[in-house]
This record gives sequence, structure tokens and C-alpha cells, in this order.
Amino acid sequence: MKIYTLRRITVICPSCDLIFATTQVARMPKISKESKVEADLHRILPDSAVRAALLGTCPECLFTWWLSTFAPSLVLPQMAPDSPPVANSKKFGHAILTGRNEGAHALDLAVVALNGYWSAREEFQEGRKWLELAAQDLEKALADESWWGNRSRYNYILGEVLRLTGNFHGAVRHFNQVDRKSVLPKELVEHQIFQAKQGNDKPVLLPPHIIQAVFKLKPEVEEQAQVNQPQLSAVDTAPTLIV
Ligand SMILES: [Zn+2]
Repeated sequence: MKIYTLRRITVICPSCDLIFATTQVARMPKISKESKVEADLHRILPDSAVRAALLGTCPECLFTWWLSTFAPSLVLPQMAPDSPPVANSKKFGHAILTGRNEGAHALDLAVVALNGYWSAREEFQEGRKWLELAAQDLEKALADESWWGNRSRYNYILGEVLRLTGNFHGAVRHFNQVDRKSVLPKELVEHQIFQAKQGNDKPVLLPPHIIQAVFKLKPEVEEQAQVNQPQLSAVDTAPTLIV
């Protein structure tokens, strides 16, 4: 079963200390090889409200960032003011402003911009401005030598973002900088290089075996559990099988 659930919680604004009510993702199914995942490695969510619920927006000062960074409050949601009625993809715009005001790293801003793009797509918009913003911040982040992390994978993401904006030369240049450290299947990188060389600027859905390789899913365990399900108690199997 693919169930996404949202719930109301209260949190404390890190900027102005206001306690306010907001929506949190209470349950998100695990990625499986049946999930809809695109070549920029994001999963298509069923509703833009789910992605928007990953952010918190203060109704008083509009501070907006990942909800996981807000301290929880014990006040009941019905006793606290609501977060402002901002359109789902616009919430990511507020997060960009907050990130800039707070001096966030270009890589963090790029991740927000990518989510803004994915949110816009989930609202059936093209989201080109978000892609351009993500490309700018990813380029800035990769030019900064001071951080450690999977730079190779971000070169892949930047290649894909550039491909989606129609900058095919830039896309191939960054795809060519992806190496084994990205832990991405070679088949995927080569496929996207081919798409860029063909001049394809459309989103590409990943086939199940690539999803499996990218997210390191264990097919044998999953299939075995399904085969054995009649003998196993529901308690044992349910948490791993529900995706
Ligand atoms: Zn605030």
C-alpha cells in the first residue's frame, strides 16, 4: 500500500520563537522499484502538499526552512496560530530567501531549489526558473573546494539539471565528471549523456532495475518475504512490505 499521511503538529520558530501549528509528513512509503523516480533522482510525490510539508513557515516572520530543524512544541495545534496559507511551491521560494538571509551554503540552497522544481512539477508546472536557480547554486557549490561530500553525484545532478534546461553541452561536461565515487550505475550516466547528445530536454523516468541500483534496494529479501508471507505473521512482514 502506498500511503502518505500528514499530521498537524506545533513547532517553535528558530528566528522569532513563535509557537505555530503546521503540517508534518507522518508517513512516507519507502522507495521501491515500482516508485516513479526520475533521472534527477527524485521521486514523484502524489501531491505537492507532501513535499511542502517538509518545510515549516513561520506566520509571524516568514522564516522558512526544513521542518526537521524546528524544535517541537507541546502546545496543541488547535491552540496555536497556523502557518501562513502560502502555495506549496512558493514555500520553497520563502526557503530560498531565508537561506540567503541566514548565509546558507550554495549546496543547501541548490537542494531547496531542486525541491522547488520538483514541487512545481507536482503542481503540473514546468518549473524552469527553479532549474536555473538550482544550476546556479550547484555550479557555485561545486566551485567551492572547501566541502567534503559526494561531489561526483552532484556533478551528475548538475548535468541532469542542465540537460533539462536545454544546455546540452554543459550537461555532457558535467556528466563526464561523474566517476565511481558517485555510486551511480554506469548505465544511467551513459544513458543520460546519450539523451543530452540527442538534444532531449524532457524528464526521464528510471526503469525498475536502475531504481534498484541507485537506491540499493534488496530485491531478493523483498521477493522472498512476499513468497513466504502466508507462513509469516503480519507483524513481521508488514513494515518491510508496505511501500
Ligand atoms: Zn518566526
